[in-house]
Formats: sequence, structure tokens, C-alpha cells
Amino acid sequence: MSRYDRQQRTRGGQQLDERWRQLRILLVGCGGVGTPLAQSLVGSGIGFLTILDGDRVRETDLHRQTLFQDRDAQQSVAKATAALRSLERIGGRTRIEALPDMLTPANAASLFCRHDVILDATDHIPARLLIDRTALATGVGWIHSAAISDRWVAASFLPPGSPCYHCWVPEPPQPDSIGSCESEGVLPVACLAAATAVLRLLTSYLRSRTRSDGAENTRTIIRGSVAAGETIVTLPTDPDCRYCSGGKIESSRLRSADRVHLRKLCGAGSIETWLDLDFDEIEVRLGRLGKSLDICRGSVSLRAEDENGALICYHDGRALITGNHGQKIENARTLVSHWLGEDALARY
Ligand SMILES: [Zn+2]
Repeated sequence: MSRYDRQQRTRGGQQLDERWRQLRILLVGCGGVGTPLAQSLVGSGIGFLTILDGDRVRETDLHRQTLFQDRDAQQSVAKATAALRSLERIGGRTRIEALPDMLTPANAASLFCRHDVILDATDHIPARLLIDRTALATGVGWIHSAAISDRWVAASFLPPGSPCYHCWVPEPPQPDSIGSCESEGVLPVACLAAATAVLRLLTSYLRSRTRSDGAENTRTIIRGSVAAGETIVTLPTDPDCRYCSGGKIESSRLRSADRVHLRKLCGAGSIETWLDLDFDEIEVRLGRLGKSLDICRGSVSLRAEDENGALICYHDGRALITGNHGQKIENARTLVSHWLGEDALARY
């Protein structure tokens, strides 16, 4: 019997488990919300988890950060390292990578392009804004989460057509103007509730990808407190938002209105284009090229890579060409023709 039998037995569980197995997650921040999240993601067997956290374990983390122990705090071990040690003891099919680093403008785009969904579990506003900017530039979806005192929140910004963080919070607060775990404290229940809310949004997203009405799951805010319980609202869209124009990354708008064929994405070092092929056809065509390519088909994206960069394809037809291949539009056009054929680029 499969280790994952009990989740495969749920309604639609076989299909969900398969998507779960292919899912590649980047977890930014492995603290009060990130540790129970990572524990559950590895326990339930996602395909690949990268943990990014530049902080070290402290004694005051231990009451809520479920992957850490006394000796991690005594030895001031990097959270990413301690989390990896703990998660590897769970076993199972998940491949785990731990990076004891911060998210920076230099590493963000390349990290995003290697994953299907980004989970923001940092309590750091500049990091959240960087996640939002990079998500807009690369088209990779993300879920925000936070907990403080006895309150929690989770919000999904998932393609296609999701508004951005600025649509929800037009003027993000200054880092010093809001409370922190140091000033207000935080209860374990708030962290666990935030982690649960993220898992709920993620599960709903993976389930909805077969349903035409799934878009509503891509823009949801779950907010709660111990006293008041939880409320769920739809993420507002600001049509005048100067960052996303109210969901500018929506595929249908780009395809019909902007008629973009190949365009350079600012900040991301990559070229965006549109393909007229589904994943099965892409896999067949890439397969003809032999073993020179590393091909990885995930639940959200299909990635083909050689030593000069990668082609990352999404279900809605969008594709990114990164690395040296993505430095110039002409390089990207040649790559697509060579790897997938002259007829692969979408026609308008
Ligand atoms: Zn926006």
C-alpha cells in the first residue's frame, strides 16, 4: 500500500496526489508559519521543496517553530539547515533543498523560475514587495501568509489573472510602523492557522485547475483571529494599479489586446512568449532532441533545460526563455524554433 494512501482515498484524491507529487514549491521564510507548512508539505509528499531563510534559530522561536529543538538554538544553527535536518527525518518522496540565504533582487528571478508556486512566510515587508515584483515579472504565482499575536492572514496571488499585492495594499506600511513578534508576541495557534490557510488555498488551486470556474480560487484572502474566527473575501482588483493594471498578466488580455509575440521581461532576465502546443505535444517534440535536455514536467509548469538556460512552459500557453537563451529576443526565437519547431509560436 502506498505511503500516501489516505490522501489518495479522498474525493478526487488520486488526481490531486499526482499534482501534489509534481509540485515544486519555494518557501521564503522558515519561521512560525513556514515550519509547520514545510512539515505538512513534506509529509504529504510534494515533489520538490526549496527552503530559503537567512536567519538563525533562537530560543524564543522554539514555542512555535515546530522543526527546531533546544540544541539548534544553543548552537545558533541556520534555520534552513536545521529545518532540512528535521524534514529529512520524515522520509517520503519529497526532494528538499535548503538555502541559508535571504531573497534578494539578484537571486529572486532565477529562484522563481525553478518553482511552480512561491510561499511567502516571511514577516519582512521588503521581502514581500520583492516577491510581488518578481511574481509580476516572471508570471509565477505566490501565496502570502503571516501571523502576529493571536491573528493570522493568508492571501493567494495565483495566475491566471490575479491582481497584485499593491491592488490589495496600495501603500504598503513602513517596516517600522507595524507590530512584530518581538513587540506583540505570537501564539502557536495563529501560526498553525496561517499555515492551514495556505494549505487550503494551495489545495484548492491544484484541484481547481481542471474546472473552468477555478479562477476564483486564485484571488482569495483568509483572515482570522482567536476571538473572531475566520473570514474569507475576494482579493480586490485595482484597474488603475500602476504595477499590474488590475491583473495585466492575465493571459487572455495579453494574447488578444497586446498581441505580444516575444517580449523581454524587465528585471527577470528572460523573454516571454506564447506557444500553440499543449504539454503532451511539447514533451514529444522535446523528446526528439535526445538526452541533451533536462526535462521536468510539474503540475503547473514544464521545464526543459540545457547548459545555457531553460524553456519554462505553462498550461495557458505562456512560456519563458531564461538564462543565456533569454538574453535577446532573437536567441529566444531561435531556441523555440530549434527545440519545438517553426510552428510552435502562437499565431495572432
Ligand atoms: Zn495590482
